[in-house]
Amino acid sequence: MNILILGSGGREHALAWAVKQNPKCDRLIVAPGNAGIAQIAECANFDINDGPSVVQFATDHSVDFVIIGPEAPLAAGVGDSLRAAGILTFGPSQEAAKLEASKAFTKELCDACDAPTAAYARFDSAAPAKDYIRENGAPIVVKADGLAAGKGVIVAMTEAEALDAIDDMFSGAFGGAGAEVVIEEFMEGEEGSLFVLCDGENVLSVGTAQDHKRVGDGDTGPNTGGMGAYSPAPVLSASVEALAMETIIKPCVAEMARRGTPYQGVLYAGLMIKDGQPRLVEYNARFGDPECQVLMMRLGAQALDLMLACADGTLSSAQVNWANDHAMTIVMAANGYPGDYAKGTEIRGLDALPESSTQMCFHAGTAQKDGAIVANGGRVLNITARGATLAEAHKAAYAMLDKIDWPEGFSRSDIGWRAL
Ligand code: ATP
Repeated sequence: MNILILGSGGREHALAWAVKQNPKCDRLIVAPGNAGIAQIAECANFDINDGPSVVQFATDHSVDFVIIGPEAPLAAGVGDSLRAAGILTFGPSQEAAKLEASKAFTKELCDACDAPTAAYARFDSAAPAKDYIRENGAPIVVKADGLAAGKGVIVAMTEAEALDAIDDMFSGAFGGAGAEVVIEEFMEGEEGSLFVLCDGENVLSVGTAQDHKRVGDGDTGPNTGGMGAYSPAPVLSASVEALAMETIIKPCVAEMARRGTPYQGVLYAGLMIKDGQPRLVEYNARFGDPECQVLMMRLGAQALDLMLACADGTLSSAQVNWANDHAMTIVMAANGYPGDYAKGTEIRGLDALPESSTQMCFHAGTAQKDGAIVANGGRVLNITARGATLAEAHKAAYAMLDKIDWPEGFSRSDIGWRAL
């Protein structure tokens, strides 16, 4: 079959790498892709957030199956356009993608099906929001309702910080995303992510992961899109995962179906775990980046069969063939990230890296220039390895990292510290 993947990050390189290994894949196109993806697939350039453009491209190229990587096309309803045109698609509808696009929507859904999450209140103006903060005290969490690229959440340790956050949110700094604010109870515990495939009705876990949001070693410095990840996440033991499935995932998926907006695609649940009890922090409507890289390395070619089963509604008869393995990915970012950084610096040593089912360097922000690979974004490479233990995966990934000659880039030296 001809397959089109939308996106350009390390997540999409990992998806393309897994899909490509499956004999069902005849032709693979990624839009817009990056320099690493271009080594294993055709890359195409058109507006991936515009439904009609995606449908046109898919029709012109006899695409049989579309996999939507990032959240923006999902929130823009590209999945709906494709399905309306009769094209098999992995990824939720615009209405179902509200599980990521609106925090207020998700909180209300959790209320409706009694899924454990932080207590909350919603506000569309500053004065009552501030009264609520003064009544409840700190620590407390203030969130812009809409998509704000991870910047719309303030975990306030003091009341003053929370009140300032309210002023910021209603100042218009977040545009439409800040028109409504959700204020939440601060949850203590350890975070972990659970990835579940859904076909609208049935659900299937495709693994757990833990990421590293802060830029610096020891979880210090500003927040990033993620500096590394590993899978499985020990905090999500089999019993915690089963509890999350029964008390959070299944009730929410059933409630979405009951409302006539079934969820199809991957549901990424951010969980807070304390004393063996998981509570929902947030949902995302797509794979995490860089979590996808470790999940794809563990799933390999079967990832395509599983995503197809979501799209054609046959997930109830699908299962994951797990190897008893662990995977780790280390992000290399351009110096300065998540602040200002330079583009166009040359990355050497990539040719010397192993490429196998257990070791891959997935590209994120890279481009080809005069025959060289250059940095073209903040997060640039994802050095990914798999092993029988997490320690083995860690050793292999850091050994790969040592071979990369890119003085203008950096990485964290402690990915996996919590589990190791
Ligand atoms: P991202 O998609 O980048 O993870 P986001 O903007 O969608 O972020 P959330 O995941 O809701 O926002 O929150 C970001 C982080 O803030 C969480 O990973 C968690 O560490 C912290 N956080 C959010 N809500 C709470 C809460 N109620 N209690 C404690 N910490 C929280």
